[in-house]
This record gives sequence, C-alpha cells and structure tokens, in this order.
Amino acid sequence: MDDILVTRSSMPELEEYIEEIRPIWESHWLTNMGKKHEELSEQLKQFLGVSQISLFSNGHMALELCLQALNLQKGEVITTPFTFASTTHAIVRNNLKPVFCDIREDDYTMDADKIEALVTDRTEAILPVHVYGNLCDVEKIEKIARKYGLKVIYDAAHAFGERYRGIGVGCFGDASMFSFHATKVYNTIEGGCICFEDESLGKKLARLKNFGIRDAESVDGIGANAKMNEFQAAMGICNLRHIDQEIEKRKKVVERYRKNLEGVSGIRLNSIRDDVDSNYAYFPVLFDEEKFGATRNEVCDYLKSNHILTRKYFYPLTNTFECYRTQYSADDTPIALKVSKRILTLPLYADLELSDVDRICDLIMEVGRE
Ligand SMILES: *Cc1c(COP(=O)(O)O)cnc(C)c1O
Repeated sequence: MDDILVTRSSMPELEEYIEEIRPIWESHWLTNMGKKHEELSEQLKQFLGVSQISLFSNGHMALELCLQALNLQKGEVITTPFTFASTTHAIVRNNLKPVFCDIREDDYTMDADKIEALVTDRTEAILPVHVYGNLCDVEKIEKIARKYGLKVIYDAAHAFGERYRGIGVGCFGDASMFSFHATKVYNTIEGGCICFEDESLGKKLARLKNFGIRDAESVDGIGANAKMNEFQAAMGICNLRHIDQEIEKRKKVVERYRKNLEGVSGIRLNSIRDDVDSNYAYFPVLFDEEKFGATRNEVCDYLKSNHILTRKYFYPLTNTFECYRTQYSADDTPIALKVSKRILTLPLYADLELSDVDRICDLIMEVGRE
C-alpha cells in the first residue's frame, strides 16, 4: 500500500501547463519580470483583494527582504515561536532580535494581550503568523502598533485566499507575506509574495529582489536575488484557475475529519470562525493524553506504522532550535511549549479520499482506546 502523505501538491493537467509555457519557448524570456510574471501579478492582486503585490522566488526571501525594505534598525521584533523556521530566521538574518510572545490556547495565534508587556524602547515591529490559516487578532495588534509606533508584518504563509469580513487578509498590517511553496494550498512550485499598500515599499522590494539594482548604471541597495521566474509564474496561472475547486475539495475533507473527531474526549480541533472565509490549509489536532488515553507521539507512530504520515507541526518551537536555545527559554512561552508537544497535523489535500479520512480517524480512535 502507498503511504498517505501529509500533503500532496496541487497540479494542473500536464497539457494545460504545456500550453501555458509555450509562449516562453517562443519568446526565450525565462525570468526577470516577463509576461507570465506580470500576468500572474495582476491576477493575484485581484484574487487576494490587495492593492499592491510583489512576487518572489519563495516566501522566505519575500519575508526576509520585506524586513530589510522596512529598514528596521532599533533591533527588536515581537514574534511567535509557534511557527516554521522561516519566520524567526527572517528576523535574525536581518540582524534583528526576535522577542517571543506566547500564543493563544484556542487558535494558536500570537496572544495580543501579551504583546504590550514585551514592548521596550528597542521594539520596532510585530511579526505575527496566521498559523494554520487562523487569523490573528488583527484589530488588537493594529491598536498596539499605533500606540507604540510599530510596524506590523504578517507571516500569512498559511492564509492564501482567506478573507476576514470580506477583506483579503493580505490587507492587514504594513505588509503580509504569502508562500506559494509546493506544500501550500496554492503553489507556484516555489514562490511567494508580499502584499502592501505603500508604493515606496514596492519600489524597495523590486530592487532588493534584483540585487539592489535601480537602473543599468546604479545599484543603491544591498539586495539579493529572489525573482520569480516565468515557469513558476506559468504554474501559478494554471493553479489559480483551479483554486476555488481545490479549496472546495479541501473543505469536504475537513468537514469529514470534523464529523469523525468532533466531541471525542481528549481531542481538540482547530477553532473555526464564521467571520473568516477559511482556505482549509491544515487540520491540526491537539491530543490531551489524560483524557484521550494516548500521547501525540503515540498517535503519530501508530499512524506511521499504518503508512499514514502526519506532521508535528509546529514542533519543536523555534526558540528551542539548536541555533537559538542558548539565548531563549521555551518556558517564557509556556502555552506554545505545551501545544507544540501535543499537536499533530493530519493528512490534508484536495484529492484525499473521504474513505481514507475515515480510515485515519478509525486508527486514531484505536490508539486512544488502547
Ligand atoms: C512555508 C512557510 C514559510 C516559508 O515559505 P517558503 O515559500 O517555503 O519559503 C514561512 N512561514 C511559514 C509559517 C510557512 O509555513
């Protein structure tokens, strides 16, 4: 039997992609903001409901260069340790210091009520994560940012296409980063973008992703190379044609998981909000050993022995990584620590069979009873 993986990349029919890349063969224009790049840019702006967008080779470089473009110099950025390595690394690679804020017990996003206590005269920005597509408390974060004059950059890697009360989630804060990595809800193979309003930020991003080049004879920024190429953009154009159906299929999978697992003692499911249009990016399950009768690790191992691969997402916390743990203690973020030891994301992708969802849930219930 084939393994069921935790995710499976969405892809168009091969013929559709071939049609999309045919003009690239004819023009020999492979990268550097070509026609496909411009076309995708416009389409994504529409789809995400944002005013400005800048495409990148991947989400991480988008985030890293966005922090650089915002010119943060005082040093401290309040962020969450309950995230992918990228978020914390983007801060540190800009010579800024992450200050870790704990998360909320119910939706795992940064606990906005704990931000103010972490603000110092060196704080310059807040970098929260819409983790699993769960929207942060954007209003409260905005209020705090205004009060202390802080920038807000959202890691919206998980939140592609989501809307809050009809507003695209990329509209909040000074900037938001979406990832188009192969494992995400929407992919351009690898890729990402920054959404923002301020046009001057757009100019800086455009230069920083292209070596800091202003024009043929002047280079005024210490840039990197993080441009999205034409093949990535073509994949993005194809995948965007099918995104609504993909999300609809994911919804069916999530609903089936919820039907099977809702109300089981010792299992806590991701909270849902009726003011957010979800993209059904992940299906995290929190196991309370006492009530459920098994630990997260036992569930993970049992599923694995049955050829079902899950992910301890996010474990370990970034503030416990080898490269950071001498400077930080996970005890400062106790809820994040507790959640990271108990949470498991189950397989979820558009083409996951509902019968497989049932089987996965049956296996989970078997571990619990033992
Ligand atoms: C995937 C991801 C990123 C990085 O995006 P890439 O496109 O893979 O570089 C950053 N933050 C979070 C939370 C992610 O899940």
